[in-house]
Amino acid sequence: MPETVKPDYRIGHGFDLHRLEPLAPEGEGRPFVLGGVHFDHPLGPVGHSDGDALFHAVTDAILGALGEPDIGRLFPDDDPAHESEDSRVFLDEAVRRMQQAGYGISNLDVTVICEKPKLGSAREQIEGNLAEHLRCATDVVNVKGKTHEQVDAIGQGKAVAVHAVVLLKR
Ligand code: MG
Repeated sequence: MPETVKPDYRIGHGFDLHRLEPLAPEGEGRPFVLGGVHFDHPLGPVGHSDGDALFHAVTDAILGALGEPDIGRLFPDDDPAHESEDSRVFLDEAVRRMQQAGYGISNLDVTVICEKPKLGSAREQIEGNLAEHLRCATDVVNVKGKTHEQVDAIGQGKAVAVHAVVLLKR
């Protein structure tokens, strides 16, 4: 195999979805957290870690851009070490690998699909959290929210889904 030159730019896409259930003790839902921000909501994500679908999608976008193993391979959900894990740990590991490979964030675009809760003023807080962890300016981080128009499980409020697209530059 010929030695490949590291490309100047690398693009990555990440996707994550978590089922939403009533909070414990009524159900197995964890407190609703998205991008490191807690929302007051009667339902929360079911997951092995803290269930932060936004941080999971961004983590996978960065790992994907680098051609590294995805979040499920790095942090298997049957590993008791990551039970209830703060998802910032996953994101920070992706950023560590990004910096080690000699890349930084060019820009990040995130779409949250969720019927409730509304992102509202938390949107800017999430962008700030992302910029802090990704070591970049907030103006290259974009987060937007959409509903699923009451269609299918996401539209019925039974799940939250997140897409993330990131561009890395050397
Ligand atoms: Mg996840």
